[in-house]
Amino acid sequence: MQKALAAVFTGHGDPFRLEEFPIPAPGTGETLVKITCSTICGSDMHTWHGRRQEPTPCVLGHEIVGTIAAFGPGSPRLDLRGEPLTEGDRITWTLAASCGECFFCKRGLPQKCEHLFKYGHSAIAPGREFSGGFAEYCLLTAGTGIIKLRAELSDALAAPANCAVATVAAATRISGNLEGQIVSVLGCGVLGLAACAMASEQGAAAIIACDVDPFREATARRFGATHFHTPDTLREGIATTSHGRGADISIELSGANTAVSAAIDNLRIGGTAVIAGAAAPCGCISLDPQMLVRRMVSIHGLHNYAPNDLVSAVGFLEQIQGKFPFSDLAGENFALTRIDEAFSSSGKRPGVRTAITP
Ligand SMILES: [Zn+2]
Ligand SMILES: [Zn+2]
Repeated sequence: MQKALAAVFTGHGDPFRLEEFPIPAPGTGETLVKITCSTICGSDMHTWHGRRQEPTPCVLGHEIVGTIAAFGPGSPRLDLRGEPLTEGDRITWTLAASCGECFFCKRGLPQKCEHLFKYGHSAIAPGREFSGGFAEYCLLTAGTGIIKLRAELSDALAAPANCAVATVAAATRISGNLEGQIVSVLGCGVLGLAACAMASEQGAAAIIACDVDPFREATARRFGATHFHTPDTLREGIATTSHGRGADISIELSGANTAVSAAIDNLRIGGTAVIAGAAAPCGCISLDPQMLVRRMVSIHGLHNYAPNDLVSAVGFLEQIQGKFPFSDLAGENFALTRIDEAFSSSGKRPGVRTAITP
């Protein structure tokens, strides 16, 4: 039986273990993919740093692009856009597979499926080693939403689409149409920059970006931000731009509890905050419920996304080619055998996506 490499993560502080495993034959509903590129997400970094616990040993990585190597019986032959899939097609896919039948799937929350499988998040088992991005192959399970990539979208751009850009697409879906709105974007990492670009494409009246790092201003502006503030001047800045009313929509993508507070506190009456950055514990915020009542604000939590958000994200990236400098967010490229170096390098360069190519 032919074998292929996977980088096995065994716990915080351990070097990755490069191991060979038999390449599995795809079972019912499964698709085998030969990986061409995976990018290191902030959440992979959290796990690597020991800030987040995942079952180990596991193969990390969920921002993945590859080509279809083999179909299992009954596996999908159409992608999420209804385009036919054949062997050799270059694809990316939803970071999770859901059943479509359970309580949460039926209520529009496929990312909370009771039978959820997330790439790069589960312990490996014999025959189930190729379950994450940092390997030569990935076995897609039934219930994964696949999307065929057009030639103009490079691997390095497409890989983060299935995490960062799709999450932002979900945030803008929840917040409603951004056209003509004053939008505040908290956090100018990859997600925040994608949010600025999406708000700009949708015709937001003002895009007020905020980050603790003042050096992120120039980049935020190139991604469509019309204003930039550090947290200390944000309140005043939003007040000036909105004639004292506050932002129509706040999108929180930094994960800092102070930014969550700012996202809510700086809303206009009837405004909407989407809180999506705090995927790890970040401390409590204080909130006087009277403010919610009297100011009639809406607060939506968002974790990951639904398959259609990936369709929006990929469509968005195809449509804005060259208009926003997404290619500047692509960091260094490492071979799979240099994965330890890739993680060290990624830790030193927040705000760009380090890629690993088998
Ligand atoms: Zn991710
Ligand atoms: Zn389900």
